[in-house]
Amino acid sequence: MSKNILILPGDGIGPEIVEQAVKVLEAVRQKFSLDITTDRALVGGAAYDAEGDPLPESTLEKARQADAILFGSIGGPKWDAIERDKRPERGLLRLRSSLGLFANLRPAILFPQLADASSLKPEVVSGLDILIVRELTGGIYFGEPRGIREENGERVGFNTDVYAESEIRRIARVAFELAQVRGKRLCSIDKANVLEVTELWREIVTEMASDYPDVDVSHMYVDNAAMQLVRAPKQFDVMVTGNLFGDILSDEAAMLTGSIGMLPSASLDENRKGLYEPCHGSAPDIAGQDIANPLATIMSLAMLMRYSLNRVDVADAIELAVEKVLESGLRTADILTEGCEKVGTDAMGDAVVRMLS
Ligand code: NAD
Repeated sequence: MSKNILILPGDGIGPEIVEQAVKVLEAVRQKFSLDITTDRALVGGAAYDAEGDPLPESTLEKARQADAILFGSIGGPKWDAIERDKRPERGLLRLRSSLGLFANLRPAILFPQLADASSLKPEVVSGLDILIVRELTGGIYFGEPRGIREENGERVGFNTDVYAESEIRRIARVAFELAQVRGKRLCSIDKANVLEVTELWREIVTEMASDYPDVDVSHMYVDNAAMQLVRAPKQFDVMVTGNLFGDILSDEAAMLTGSIGMLPSASLDENRKGLYEPCHGSAPDIAGQDIANPLATIMSLAMLMRYSLNRVDVADAIELAVEKVLESGLRTADILTEGCEKVGTDAMGDAVVRMLS
């Protein structure tokens, strides 16, 4: 049956990096005779400029109909001063929550060819392969009440960190199942010594462990996890955590690999429909200069093939092509090291396509 992929390039470097992933998609469509159709729509600042809304109804409708979404990035200084509800980031948050994309998968993999690009010693990070599973539609980013109010003659800001048992169970289930097909180790991150909401989180993960006897489960406080990620990151296989802690820890893990330009992500719903995007933002400082690294977006396409289209073979082929490109010594500016050849965004996309054939 034909699968439909919605392409949402977004703002800043979004359109240039997505274009490279589209080239790769075209190449694998031919190589593997995939029955895939694509569609495009506006999102973020580009959608606000065109239609006054960062997530127009027409875009949301196409997203609902699609089997998977390939997303670039949104935002930029041009839209920083507009009203909060119309900002590009709101469009992405609304898209995630409207589609029920509650599970955010962020792998941090260090290709051996890039061990020198990390700020940590090569022996600490070489061969690193972590998967962070972050809850994406609950917790303090969405909890009510929230706001800024007057109290005793001054302004008070407040948010609510809240997780229902069912929300904890469904994200933990995703993490347990992924641990089963990886290294069979799951570390749940919380702050159960201080926050009741994560006390419940720990209780439920502990309870669920008996359903997954093949997975070795541990628990760690978030402050220790932040420390362990830079001290000895290879101790982790799959990490599962809530929205706020996951946001911070996954960026930290990203930097272990040397460049944020190398990291893909997936956000999945209950049926594995997903939105796939690089972990980085729209990088307005380098937009339009043909210097952005497109590999995170290309590897997001690989994740799309693996998780939403069930084509592990295609995902493996894309990841292998990326590795071969790195092996051949080609680098975009953000991952350039001595002795390698610097190439632009477009040339990097072409190189991956060449390695596929
Ligand atoms: P950023 O990730 O866009 O950029 C941080 C730094 O990393 C910059 O120096 C940038 O040049 C560099 N960088 C990012 N991606 C790169 C790539 N592919 N290749 C080479 N270098 C790359 O983060 P920021 O500067 O904090 O945010 C810029 C804008 O992006 C803001 O408007 C922010 O709201 C938005 N943002 C969007 C998303 C998203 O679309 N999911 C995520 C984070 C930030």
